[in-house]
Amino acid sequence: MERKFKFATQCVHAGEKPDPVFGAHTTPIFQTSTFIFDSVEQGASRFAEEEDGYVYTRIPPNTPTHAVLSEKFAALEGGEAGQTFASGMAAITAVALTALKKGDHLVSTDVVYGCTYSLFSEILPGLGIDVTFVDTTDAENVRKVLRPETKMVFLETPANPTLNVCDIRMISGLAKAQGAICVVDNTFSTPYFQKPLLLGADISLSSCTKYIGGHADLLGGIIVCDKAFLKNLAKVAGYTGGTMGLHEAWLCIRGLKTLHIRMERHAENALKVANFLESHPAVEWVRYPGLSSHPQHEIAKKQMSGYGGMLSFGVKDGIDAGSKLMNSVRLCSLAVSLGATDTLIQHPASMTHACVPKEVRGKVGITDGLVRLSIGIEDPEDIIADLKQALEKI
Ligand SMILES: *Cc1c(COP(=O)(O)O)cnc(C)c1O
Repeated sequence: MERKFKFATQCVHAGEKPDPVFGAHTTPIFQTSTFIFDSVEQGASRFAEEEDGYVYTRIPPNTPTHAVLSEKFAALEGGEAGQTFASGMAAITAVALTALKKGDHLVSTDVVYGCTYSLFSEILPGLGIDVTFVDTTDAENVRKVLRPETKMVFLETPANPTLNVCDIRMISGLAKAQGAICVVDNTFSTPYFQKPLLLGADISLSSCTKYIGGHADLLGGIIVCDKAFLKNLAKVAGYTGGTMGLHEAWLCIRGLKTLHIRMERHAENALKVANFLESHPAVEWVRYPGLSSHPQHEIAKKQMSGYGGMLSFGVKDGIDAGSKLMNSVRLCSLAVSLGATDTLIQHPASMTHACVPKEVRGKVGITDGLVRLSIGIEDPEDIIADLKQALEKI
């Protein structure tokens, strides 16, 4: 009987298939837009979905390179099936279009990635979909807004950029009881630290642009779900495009082979930086799910096996001091995005979350003084020394 491999072994081996033609050791890039059929009959049965196989690169399962990535990532999330996309936003859009139609209701975490907020607040209502944003750190708030038309509950935990954490098991139970699916944006944790499907969620999605690619050199998105949802999702993926590029798929396969090692180091460094910032007199507050001062630290402890590489903090003299700090870093890069090997610093209120209206930002805690850090895998002493010298400049 085949033994189920541990996570690190799955990162390296899951989904990989030796090339049957030339024996290439790594998964080849099948740089093609179309596939040759043996016969008219075979082409017809592939289109009728009576036979598995490849048809055209836009149509799932796209190409064997994409299929290896989907299978590897589904194994890591503990799910049945995966589907790749050109970006995290293409993935989120496809999930929304698959699960929701006119007259349906969506409940979403109030602190989400900026473009997710804009998609939900500006585009979906125009399609006749009603959207309610709630503070999901208290599951009771979700219970209060669920109604018979609610078809999807969308969570982001830990959330970008406040690091709010919500209880996936409890909220997915509430969603299920109402006949809604629960979707989790797992970009911040990756399946190394959190497996939403094993906590009761129906769908886990990630921006591959971040920790999955892991080197800040590609755009991609991926969804893991059951086979029934995948069937409908694949239609939306095929009809709307948003196909992940071949080279990106290959880079994601390569990135995942070191996911477990990188995440461990990101988290180790982040905790050290969080402790340093918490003890610095110029720092007013620090948010990192691994700190006991985090308001949802107990929930985080219950559902995460580690706390990731993202943290946010505020400096005492507000945004002017924060700007001075961000303009004074030397090792850290002033850049949006996250999950890179190097440490990135940015200002959500004027950058990633500038598209969220100011009054909404204020309400959900994306204050003007909030600075976000994506901690890299450098030596932690060098990261801390850089932040220390920058804090001295404010
Ligand atoms: C970056 C990000 C996205 C969007 O992903 P793209 O690949 O940039 O489209 C969605 N959710 C979270 C939490 C992100 O950080």
